[in-house]
Amino acid sequence: MALVTSKEMFKKAYEGGYAIGAFNVNNMEIIQGITEAAKETNAPLILQVSAGARKYANHTYLMKLIEAAVEETGLPICVHLDHGDTFELCKSCIDGGFTSVMIDGSHHSFEENIKLTKQVVEYAHAKGVTVEGELGRLAGIEDAVNVSEEDAAFTDPDQVEEFVQKTGVDSLAIAIGTSHGAFKFKGDAKLRFDILEEIQKRLPGFPIVLHGASSVMPEYVEMINKFGGEMPGAKGVPEDMLRKAASMAVCKINIDSDLRLALTGTIRQYFAQNPSHFDPRQYLGPARASIKEIVKHKIVNVLGCDGKA
Ligand SMILES: [Zn+2]
Repeated sequence: MALVTSKEMFKKAYEGGYAIGAFNVNNMEIIQGITEAAKETNAPLILQVSAGARKYANHTYLMKLIEAAVEETGLPICVHLDHGDTFELCKSCIDGGFTSVMIDGSHHSFEENIKLTKQVVEYAHAKGVTVEGELGRLAGIEDAVNVSEEDAAFTDPDQVEEFVQKTGVDSLAIAIGTSHGAFKFKGDAKLRFDILEEIQKRLPGFPIVLHGASSVMPEYVEMINKFGGEMPGAKGVPEDMLRKAASMAVCKINIDSDLRLALTGTIRQYFAQNPSHFDPRQYLGPARASIKEIVKHKIVNVLGCDGKA
């Protein structure tokens, strides 16, 4: 199996009423933890790379690690650019072997967003690469993307048909109340399923993407707080809401914060219990195991894509 685009994955996910997990990768342990979980559950997989991850780890290192994962697992894996903000960045990832890119023009006007997205789609499709666009603005912080709560905006269903038709995108990220980071809701968690339903009606059969969809799992937040961290009030999207979204038009669910929390909590606990250890394998090994455990949980209990590879 070679790297694949998201096209076939999304088609099957839409028809099957499940979603594909898109997990952010930054280093070898994270890639191994995620791909081992997908292999054990026989799940299709999207590994996504942000501009920040590419800067941190280097494009070639990440590509080679992902190629190794394909070889080791034999799974259909899509390698996707998360939040590309310029044509040049998308082009660089497409030329460098990515099978899917996101162009996030959501900070531009509707017309500018269409223009930029269309430009990326034309280049990407000529090379057989799929493109995700975004309409609406999620609150929160993720790498270079930083949107205050006042600037956040739900996706307007009246705009989706025109956007998809004029740009030719393969999937669309929408804002219905999820947000980036580990502090998603001050009060009760609430997603606008009415907006998702309306969009699904306007775009029958079209794959929708949810960003900022970590559940901020309490066991890992507690672990961080117990071993010297401070994350009071951290809160995520309840998993039953994500399951419901996955059964609807949502075909891709982005999960990053949960993996960061699991990795950090495990390392904090390790050092609290073994203060004199200094072999990186001793703490990165358990961190990798915790990534694997959380990804398996997401695949089976949230996404429903186990056995679908
Ligand atoms: Zn995002």
